[in-house]
Parts: sequence; structure tokens; C-alpha cells
Amino acid sequence: MTRPSASPSRVPTPEQILRAPKVLLHDHLDGGLRPATVAELAAEQGYANLPVPADDPEALGRWFREAADSGSLERYLETFAHTCAVMQTRDALARVAREAVLDLAADGVVYAEIRYAPEQHLEGGLTLEQVVEAVNDGFREGERRAAAEGRRIRVGALLTAMRHAARSLEIAELANRYRDRGVVGFDIAGAEAGHPPTRHLDAFEYLKRENNHFTIHAGEAFGLPSIWQALQWCGADRLGHGVRIIDDIEVDPKAPEGARLGRLAAYVRDRRVPLEMCPTSNLQTGAAESYERHPIGLLRGLGFRVTVNTDNRLMSGTSMSREFEELARAFDYTLDDLQWFTVNAMKSAFIPFNERLAMINDVIKPRYAELRSEWLFAGESR
Ligand SMILES: [Zn+2]
Repeated sequence: MTRPSASPSRVPTPEQILRAPKVLLHDHLDGGLRPATVAELAAEQGYANLPVPADDPEALGRWFREAADSGSLERYLETFAHTCAVMQTRDALARVAREAVLDLAADGVVYAEIRYAPEQHLEGGLTLEQVVEAVNDGFREGERRAAAEGRRIRVGALLTAMRHAARSLEIAELANRYRDRGVVGFDIAGAEAGHPPTRHLDAFEYLKRENNHFTIHAGEAFGLPSIWQALQWCGADRLGHGVRIIDDIEVDPKAPEGARLGRLAAYVRDRRVPLEMCPTSNLQTGAAESYERHPIGLLRGLGFRVTVNTDNRLMSGTSMSREFEELARAFDYTLDDLQWFTVNAMKSAFIPFNERLAMINDVIKPRYAELRSEWLFAGESR
């Protein structure tokens, strides 16, 4: 499936992975704060409920990762209670958004869609519109500062509605109102079990009538019915995670190339439905056992439209570079594979087709070609 290349195929170094252009479609704003920022905002706002003294950001960062690792849903959810608690003012939202862009740019990300649920940032008296505008301002400022440092990045927002709440139509309308002003699509998130996406059909039908785009968290913990509903009832453009599609694929360990796809898996592959996979996050929630056994290896081999994502950089202590490093190590991926994931992600983004194409042809491919050619000049010190 890899295209022929004249260069020797080898596992890229961490330094090459860092410099490689990357595209991120699934990243939560309230899951990507810097630990020091959580601590500073808490101190500024007099928020006293942090589990670790606010003057020790390193311990705080560790606490977030451990809570997410603990296997306890309660502790996992507690992490978001703290980050959301300090993101209730205009300035805090703009700062967190700006820093997210700068952190992604420093990690070599050239295009990102960052999602958040406006309804979770109203406790300080902001309106839904004010939340969106504060985050947009932060994103634009982050883009400007990154460009000034020589790192060009473009960021779009996805507005998320919570599956257990009843505001999805309102949030979908909000996403539509801001679609030419920084918001590129819509998402629903939250616990899958007991909250099927079909409860939010009015929101999805509205967005379809408006020719707008959306993705749905589906097939992470919950199985095939959730993926089926997201696609065939709701009409999702992409699937958040979608790892459980593996349940519809029969593999003979002796002949993995002869995998048999059920109707749903075949539909997902045939229609090129993008899967927003988040390997490290899946290990923490138990959706996968190890990087080596993560379904992404098989799905990539079978040619599904797989993309690689971070989900929650703070809780998972991760970055796009780290996700790529882990996968390169687990599956011997080369720069060709990393380019394939990156082009897949760019093709699946919610910005206009001509802009996606220009990102692929004018930014992503030339930079991977540059990285691939480095072996020719191995004598030069870099
Ligand atoms: Zn997610």
C-alpha cells in the first residue's frame, strides 16, 4: 500500500518526527492546557479545589496523567472538572486557546481542528457567543505569534455539544452562525453508553440542511451500533475514534491480508470515512491494550482512512510527535507512513477542498520530501 520510493525506508528519528508537518483533527481544548497554566489560572481566580498545591505544576501535570490512567471514570472526569473550572472567563479562554496553538505549532502541527463545548464555559456569566469569540481571538493570536516565530499553523474550531445534555440544536446553530468566522464544524462528545447519537438527530439534520460538517465521538468504548448510528442515522462526516470498527473485521492471524470485512466495516472503508484515532488516549480508557495491539496497525494495512490524533494532550501527556513516535516504534512506520496519515487527515479536514489540496501539495508533501531526502546528505552535519 506504500507507494514506491527511491529512498531507503527507515524508522524516522524523534527529531525528524518533530520537524515533519502534522495535521490534527481531534484535540480537546479543555484537555490540552499546560499544567503551569492550570496552576496560574487557579491561583488568579482563587480556585481552591486543585488536588495538588498550585505552586507545583510538575506534580499537577503528573496528577492529571495518573488520574486519566487510573481506570476510574470518576477520576478521569474529575480532571476535566478542574480544567473547565479555570476556563470561565474571556481572558482565561483566550489564553488557553492561544497557548494550545503555540504548543501545536512548536510540535510541528501545520493544521489543527480544536474542539470544545461552549456550554461548559458559562459559569462566569459569559454567553455562548462570548465563549466562541474569546476562543477565536486566542486562536488568531496564537497563529500570529507562531508565524512571528517562523512556525505557520492554521487552526479551526469545532463546537461540541454534550451527549447527556439537551442543547445540541442550539450549539449546532451556533456553529452554523460562526462557520465563516473561525468555526469549521460540530461534534458531540461525552459518555457513549446510554446516550446514543440519535438523541441529537435534530441537530444533525439541521446541519445537513445547512450543508455544514460534523463529526461524532463513536465506537470508542461502545461498539458497532454506535458507529452505525453515527453514520447511517446521523450522517457523520467523520468518526471520533471509531476503533471498535475492528469488531466487524475477521482476521486470520496466519493470513492477515485476507481479512474479511462485515457490511459496516466495508462501508466505512469504501466510503473513505475518516477515523480520528487517538492511540494513547485509547490505552488509558482501555479501548486498546498496547500500541502494538492497537487496531490502527490493521486498519492502516487494510487501507481505511485512518488519521492520528492526540485527544487530550494534558491528560495523556502526549503530543502529535509522541503519537507518531509510538506508532513508528510499534509498527516500524517510515516517513512514507507518517505522510500517509498526514495526507489522510488533511483530506478529511472541514476547510474548503482547494485549501486542503494546497496544504497537501504546497506544505505537506514538499516537507516530507525534504525529510526523506536527508539520507542523501548524511555526511553534512545538521
Ligand atoms: Zn475526544
